[in-house]
Amino acid sequence: MPISKPESVLAPQSLDIGDFGALRESALTDAKVMLVDDEALTLEVIVTFLEESGYSRFVTTSEPTEALDLIARERPDILLLDLMMPKVSGFDILARMQADPELRYTPVVVLTSAAEASTKLRALDCGATDFLAKPVDASELRLRLRNTLAFRAYQNRLANYDRITGLPNRELFGKHVEQALRAAKRHGQSCAMLHLNLDRFGQINDTLGHGAGDALLRTASQRIQSAVRESDPMGRAADSVDDAGLSRLGGDEFTLLLPRVERVENASLVAQRVLAKIAQPFQFNGREIVMTGRIGIAVYPHDGEDHESLLQHASAAMSFAKSLGRGSYHFYSHDMNARAQERFTLENELRKAIERDELVLFLQPKVDVQTGRIIGAEALVRWQHPERGLLQPGRFIQLAEESGLMPQLGAWVMRRACHVLGDLHKRGHADMRLAVNVSGEQFRQNDFRTSVQEAVLNSGCNAGHLVLELTEGTLMDHVEQTIGTLHSLKALGIKLSIDDFGTGYSSLSYLKRFPLDELKIDQSFIRDVTANASDAAIVRAIISMAQSLGLSVVAEGVETAAQLAFLRAQGCPQYQGYFFSRPIPVEEFLQLASQAAQGASILA
Ligand code: C2E
Ligand code: CA
Ligand code: CA
Repeated sequence: MPISKPESVLAPQSLDIGDFGALRESALTDAKVMLVDDEALTLEVIVTFLEESGYSRFVTTSEPTEALDLIARERPDILLLDLMMPKVSGFDILARMQADPELRYTPVVVLTSAAEASTKLRALDCGATDFLAKPVDASELRLRLRNTLAFRAYQNRLANYDRITGLPNRELFGKHVEQALRAAKRHGQSCAMLHLNLDRFGQINDTLGHGAGDALLRTASQRIQSAVRESDPMGRAADSVDDAGLSRLGGDEFTLLLPRVERVENASLVAQRVLAKIAQPFQFNGREIVMTGRIGIAVYPHDGEDHESLLQHASAAMSFAKSLGRGSYHFYSHDMNARAQERFTLENELRKAIERDELVLFLQPKVDVQTGRIIGAEALVRWQHPERGLLQPGRFIQLAEESGLMPQLGAWVMRRACHVLGDLHKRGHADMRLAVNVSGEQFRQNDFRTSVQEAVLNSGCNAGHLVLELTEGTLMDHVEQTIGTLHSLKALGIKLSIDDFGTGYSSLSYLKRFPLDELKIDQSFIRDVTANASDAAIVRAIISMAQSLGLSVVAEGVETAAQLAFLRAQGCPQYQGYFFSRPIPVEEFLQLASQAAQGASILA
């Protein structure tokens, strides 16, 4: 018997599978195929045929007594079953499968040499899906398998997906949610369940017809997905729609699971974006339709620990959102609403703060370890809030990153810092350098280099005395692009420093490729450097590594004389820390620098 037949015998037919688009061929050949036949040769032949058609996952047995256990364990997508076998026949196996609720829906193609109709009918009665005559013909085999699997995939679609939007339906979504909740539990993370309801949907359906209603649902589903993708400043959530995602619950209701929310307020950010997208007018048959939505949010584990209770609470919150008016969202629990509200307020205030000039630059001196002289400073931003007082960056930098305000805030800091640097030089501190922190968001802006250049030119400061501090995380993101930007900054004469060194994951080979000037040892290593031997070893190693790479080193967070003595003994050239000075207002720094300079000249 020839093992292979020409490929063209069976051109794949195009299968109509409704609204879901064409099934990928690979989705079928990925199927796990199980074969049960007491003749080992038949098994071999079938496997060979199927391998030629692209199938690769097989479970085979020629031992009918083992078949049932194997089926239960392997859960094949399709079973090819010989009917005539010793001890346990194919009929027996079919009957046992029928009795098992887990196995009864497995498609079974029966292999039979018996031509009689009665045998075939009996097999059908016992739950077989289709027949295949023995000896097996390659093209026949391929066709049967393909059709059975395609039909199965179609049924699966119908059972699990919404026909109009193609989104997972309530049942499948429930399974995804349970999975996501288990993962969240393992990792101690929070999830958020959003329940969205479209307003006026019934009215649109009634007046414009179901065609309009369906189009509206599809548009809504696409807009929700794009809002979720765009909601994450770092693109981390890009996969989260697929992870657990979005489902059409029925009617005009959608549910959305955000599987990893770092802070619950972020769920409100997503809710706002979704509502904003939904509210954009959409066109149907030349008419403009405006729809709005409302969202209720429940948070795992705070508001519920399983799918049902989260859904119930998100729905309750959604009902409440109705009383708040169109386009609003509401958290299930009171304190989450308070937190979201607080964040929202702070974000709006921060937006205004930049315009109203409420930001303030503080400077922390950078000091020469050997001589104790000030050699420059690091600029650290503060927010002089009209009611809340002076806010530290810990309160608002992350907020600025997440709400897209960082480029503006960063640009303000850069302009102000360049201005201060120019001032320092005018006042006779011609050697002083000023370091500015640059966030990842800001660094990745297309016009970052141009904006720095502008700030330098407008202030008239010397670019050679401007230092940019970047974290390892920022540098390691899109390495090739980063290297390009760094070189273009170096071309302006600007110095580059790597901040919080030791906390990230830089590899030495990359470090060598970045055109850096300085490395700042993170304060977490300095804190216990005099008591903890491994911290001391790390600090020593960083200093010697920096020296061998030709980089300057700054130790951060030096608070005691003992820490400073250690650094001096190790040959660390510079430090910063409360021991010398906290970050101080610019005027105060200028005075300090002048006094120090006078002191030095008196001593000289
Ligand atoms: P960083 O760049 O690592 O800044 C050093 C932080 O350590 C500053 O906190 C500083 O006040 C603090 N510090 C300095 N010496 C000591 C010490 O001896 N002991 C202790 N415990 N802390 C010390 P700050 O000013 O609260 O800033 C926190 C972070 O906020 C900064 O960490 C930086 O990542 C960010 N940041 C501050 N200003 C800006 C800015 O203008 N732009 C950007 N993108 N980020 C900024
Ligand atoms: Ca810094
Ligand atoms: Ca730092």
